[in-house]
Amino acid sequence: MQPLMSYRELYLATLQKWGEEAQYDQAVEECAELIASLKHLRRGRVDRTAVAEELADVYLMVGQLVYMLGEETVAAAVERKIARLRELLALP
Ligand SMILES: [Mg+2]
Repeated sequence: MQPLMSYRELYLATLQKWGEEAQYDQAVEECAELIASLKHLRRGRVDRTAVAEELADVYLMVGQLVYMLGEETVAAAVERKIARLRELLALP
């Protein structure tokens, strides 16, 4: 699996083809599909491969959103979240 931000040309192409609003809507839809697949996995209605398919969709949508919102902005937010989590877990 390639790093999330190695697909920048794909993210730019999707924005040029469908536009920013459509990509926000697509992100919401893909997140909803992942949520549904996780619930179905717990009930034994789908297998882990089906969940992986939905996770892959969300993985790429996260990359798309990072591209849209700005990599530095999101990276700074991630660092704050990691610091907070380390604090909660009492990790160095
Ligand atoms: Mg999906």
